[in-house]
Amino acid sequence: MPGEQKPLWTDGWLQQCIHVPSPNFSQRPQHTEISLVVLHNISLPPFEYGQQAVQRLFTNQIRADEPDDFMRSLINLRVSSHFLLERSGALTQFVSCDDAAFQAGVSRFDGREGCNAFSIGIELEGCDFEPFTESQYAQLGGLLQTLCECYPIKAVTGHQHVAPGRKSDPGHFFQWDRLRAQGLPVTTEYQWLL
Ligand SMILES: [Zn+2]
Repeated sequence: MPGEQKPLWTDGWLQQCIHVPSPNFSQRPQHTEISLVVLHNISLPPFEYGQQAVQRLFTNQIRADEPDDFMRSLINLRVSSHFLLERSGALTQFVSCDDAAFQAGVSRFDGREGCNAFSIGIELEGCDFEPFTESQYAQLGGLLQTLCECYPIKAVTGHQHVAPGRKSDPGHFFQWDRLRAQGLPVTTEYQWLL
């Protein structure tokens, strides 16, 4: 119908993206405010892009006969972010933002441990050793604006900042200033685990 608008979100799922549901999540603790976004990078096998291997990892489809040694080493991992933003700008959602995706692991933000409970995770297809793409920055900016409008997000930070010493992503090449220039609440202080 003319003028009819589809909802932007349904049960924590963004409607304008690819949905590949993952079982790797838990319910958030009751009355938890979703107040943090954690940015990551990932490439599988390492430094290779566009092979759908991240999608397979996040949906527990790594096989015992993977040709790549590193891929085989991931077989028992149970992880997923909420979103994956590929080099092309393609956006896939794996877990409802209402649930806690298994993305940050042992982590700490603003004195609270276990960031999965109160954060949304976004993986950027990439690595610590080369720049991210313009398409990724463009899509990421829009996604973060939407998240900040729909959830009480107080900070956007990196996996390296909530798990320093253990994680290094999104890494040196990620341009935080681009997000700051959009008025997003970027925090890049290291939150050392006590
Ligand atoms: Zn990470």
